[in-house]
Amino acid sequence: ADAGSDPCCAEPLPVLGRDVTVPLVTGGEVTYAALDYAASAPALQRVWDDVAAYAPYYGSVHRGAGYLSQLSTDLFENSRVTVADFLDCREGDQVVFTRSTTDSLNLLASALPADCRVFVFETEHHASLLPWGDTRVTYLNAPRTHAEAVRTLEQALADRDPSPRSSSWGEPVGPALVCVTGASNVTGELWPVKELAEVAHAHGARIVLDAAQLAPHHAVSVRDLDVDWVAFSGHKLYAPFGSGVLAGRADWLQEAEPYLAGGGASRTVARRADGGVDVEWHTTPARHEAGSPNVIGVYSIASACKALTEAGFENLVAREQHLVDRVREGLAAVPEVKVLSLFGEDAPRVGVISFVVEGWNSSHFAAALSAEYGIGVRDGLFCAHPLVRTLLGSAPQDPGECGAPEARPGEVSLNAIRVSFGAGTPDEHVERFVGAVKELVREGAKWQYRTEDGRCVP
Ligand code: PMP
Repeated sequence: ADAGSDPCCAEPLPVLGRDVTVPLVTGGEVTYAALDYAASAPALQRVWDDVAAYAPYYGSVHRGAGYLSQLSTDLFENSRVTVADFLDCREGDQVVFTRSTTDSLNLLASALPADCRVFVFETEHHASLLPWGDTRVTYLNAPRTHAEAVRTLEQALADRDPSPRSSSWGEPVGPALVCVTGASNVTGELWPVKELAEVAHAHGARIVLDAAQLAPHHAVSVRDLDVDWVAFSGHKLYAPFGSGVLAGRADWLQEAEPYLAGGGASRTVARRADGGVDVEWHTTPARHEAGSPNVIGVYSIASACKALTEAGFENLVAREQHLVDRVREGLAAVPEVKVLSLFGEDAPRVGVISFVVEGWNSSHFAAALSAEYGIGVRDGLFCAHPLVRTLLGSAPQDPGECGAPEARPGEVSLNAIRVSFGAGTPDEHVERFVGAVKELVREGAKWQYRTEDGRCVP
């Protein structure tokens, strides 16, 4: 067979840092295996090249009369079109550029109608869990199947519907928003977004998709999923830090006060006779993009969208699933390893896998992977404390930066280890990781790891 035509054997996409070597405490050095894509993925070389080609020409956007200002403005505005195409947005949807997913969800939170209720599963990343303000949120318990997730939401929304038994029967219920992740940043598991959107809409609610972990791994179609908004971050989508997207319906954003007040968001400002000022604000998206925008960040998101589309998500998914299977098989062969999962270890997931190792402190395990094998993973609670607590079945003590106290034999650590990868990951990184886990569990770490001044050191 022609190996080149097998998507699983396709080459990983070139990313920055793929040739970086790091020293090992055991002597010598190895190429760095970046297996923390869920935190920040390395930028695609292609994105970096695009930015480098554009950098000499950049100028102010939206204001300048000069040629370079016009060029920058065109690139900036065309980036919206690229992102809208990438997300398969509907007619009338808008793309607002933000700093990150966190920023996008906070922007949406600031634009909710006053009496809007928010429904969110406790399993969400803190960026999806926290922006809404406690009083108007209904937190939903962690479901253990997709069907249970749909039922839980259905029940919660039905409870707010006007009912013949309630005194408010016939009164219109206020607006509601559901916020759900497409793929968990802890377990990598996919959520039944389309079904949840259907339930939300059937009950007159809207839905925002946190696609921070989904968009880098799967094609996201706003139209097909029928979500009202989608949010994601550039730095997880193979672009550099500092830019993000909120895309979707314009109406609530249009009716809201500007997220930031300032130039760019204001159309006219004039002193009033009484001494104050009258402001006429722009329509969206400019309304929520006050201040000089991150033109390079926005341009790099658009470049990443194009690069992923050209590589073809069907190829990226096939390759990534091959890596997911390798890690799953590898970890399943180690009885001391427990993979964290809500929906079952075999549930569909992206290249994000968290686990604990019996008898090991997760921070020390992660430190050993780095120091002895040149593998960069993450340990901790991954900004999803309620979820990790549920998955570990116990309330972790304050993990600090370096994690919880030593696990005793027969116990698991109170925080977890996360390995995550994607379009730039070569097979060798995943093979090295699986080999390292097996060797560490079998032979123990070669060095002692302890916590000192909040850092893990040999
Ligand atoms: N949602 C999910 C699912 C995430 O994984 C993350 C980042 N870990 C965020 C939101 C927040 O993204 P950012 O830090 O880029 O704002």
